[in-house]
Amino acid sequence: MDNPVEEIKRRIDIVDFIGSFISLKKTGRNFKALCPFHQEKTPSFIISAERQIWHCFGACNEGGDVIKFLMKWENITFFEALKELARKTGIQLKKIAFEDGVWKKKERYIAMNQLATDFFDYLLHKSHYGKKALDYLFSRQIKLPTIKKFQLGYAPSSWNSLYKFLKRKKFEEEEIFENGLLVKGEKGNFYDRFRGRIIFPIKDPRGNIIAFSGRTIDEKQKEAKYVNTPETPIYHKRETLFGIDLAKE
Ligand SMILES: [Zn+2]
Repeated sequence: MDNPVEEIKRRIDIVDFIGSFISLKKTGRNFKALCPFHQEKTPSFIISAERQIWHCFGACNEGGDVIKFLMKWENITFFEALKELARKTGIQLKKIAFEDGVWKKKERYIAMNQLATDFFDYLLHKSHYGKKALDYLFSRQIKLPTIKKFQLGYAPSSWNSLYKFLKRKKFEEEEIFENGLLVKGEKGNFYDRFRGRIIFPIKDPRGNIIAFSGRTIDEKQKEAKYVNTPETPIYHKRETLFGIDLAKE
């Protein structure tokens, strides 16, 4: 059992599992239901038995695996859902406890990225610093609903604004650095990796923000057009990415 997450997913059938919470209707190869996560009168919540995933094509426009479903259903974290499903499937808690530290770190880094996304979002939409970036996006025919959907943001031309923000949120500089948001200078000083750039959050299939891509808005600058999060404990470039399509041109 190398990967308890995969093992849990192998042992639980998503149709049976979700079917124990809400009533499902078979439709062709899939099952459908009224989405439990938003109000609706016609079912737009689809479960694929074949792929063992669910998706709400309605207001949520969100989906995932059995773990993601439980996270949303009980409003719990990934690790809490994993533990609950491990108990249910009789998977050794010892094995998972062994990985507890790793999961805790991953959750913490994902939470850090969410805060950074909120920070960049605020600067793009609600500060005068972001106005130039917003104008730039509009000039590229990227409309507000798209900007919101992909949670684009703006990192100001500052060496330490995100750094100070995350320090106030009780993150240590070594972990902010390990999570790729800071760069370590030659003298061991830390500074913000993303400066004066439009920020594109990069998500994993569960919708967690695991990395960022920052695009310059000043075409005449000699700096790199894109700056990206390096490899981190939660971001491995070779794995499939979601949401990056907008950042690629
Ligand atoms: Zn929904």
